[in-house]
Amino acid sequence: MFFGPGCSPPKWGPILIPSLCLSPPSAYSGGMRIGIAGIAGRMGRLVVREAIAGGALLSGGTWRPGEVPPEGVAHYRDIAALAASSDVVVDFTHASTVQTHAAALAGAECAWVLGTTGLTAADQAAVQQATRRIPLVQAANFSPGVALLCTLAERLGAALSAEIYDAEILEMHHRQKTDAPSGTALALGAAVARGRGVTLDSVAVRARDGDTGARPAGAIGFASLRGGQVVGEHTLLFAAGDEHIALTHRAFDRAVFARGAVQAAFWVHGRAPGHYGMDDVLGTGGDH
Ligand code: NAD
Repeated sequence: MFFGPGCSPPKWGPILIPSLCLSPPSAYSGGMRIGIAGIAGRMGRLVVREAIAGGALLSGGTWRPGEVPPEGVAHYRDIAALAASSDVVVDFTHASTVQTHAAALAGAECAWVLGTTGLTAADQAAVQQATRRIPLVQAANFSPGVALLCTLAERLGAALSAEIYDAEILEMHHRQKTDAPSGTALALGAAVARGRGVTLDSVAVRARDGDTGARPAGAIGFASLRGGQVVGEHTLLFAAGDEHIALTHRAFDRAVFARGAVQAAFWVHGRAPGHYGMDDVLGTGGDH
């Protein structure tokens, strides 16, 4: 491989992949009360199934007027009431709920597993504030495969020179998804940026339209497709003049996210206050 003037060679080194800690649901211990925010939603319903399969006690959930919840689950009028009756709340709702949920869960000292995406900076600040009082696992994607992909993204970002390898992230999701780029795409971009020692905000190109000019050196680009019922597809591409490296993750069933979230709920129960990620739950290393 040729490295031009002023370009340092990549920092090649072994990419060590720690073993994943993937316990089957039957390995979970019972006795923990899980509450589910947004229990009537696509993810909420799946979390019910996985929580029961894992042997958790289901305290119930919140849902909005007009929604039909899964059969037999207890209804809580709001997040504060749910938190008061739960050890951990698993939350797949909408970004507009995050600040209220952060205050209520911190007030009740209830652990939080947060999967909602599309958070603003103010939402994220509220989450950080809550983690002074409660333990939280937050992930834009609870699948073990994506946790591992984020670890690889950081290592590849460090190994592949930004002057030679253009990083692009392509994602596709179902037509109902309301935020773009996906939280997972942004997490992958953040991992590459960390590997390169820069912040994602300083290099992200989140949309292209019209006369955009040439690609800025060191940019991390995003492209979003929406259509059909695609559960979630992400490709991380490093494009050089003479070679491409592409890593793709495809989720075929949302149950993979619910299973990861329930695993995170069992892991976070009883932990010290703090902000944790799926890499902590799975032991895959790296920051988040
Ligand atoms: P959904 O629309 O099927 O369900 C969302 C639920 O949230 C609804 O039942 C609704 O009652 C509730 N909700 C929405 N807005 C609300 C509001 N303003 N106040 C109170 N409740 C409200 O959506 P979904 O597919 O289950 O996804 C939910 C969230 O989880 C989205 O942000 C999505 O991007 C994210 N998601 C994350 C992962 C992950 O692994 N982290 C995986 C899938 C989806």
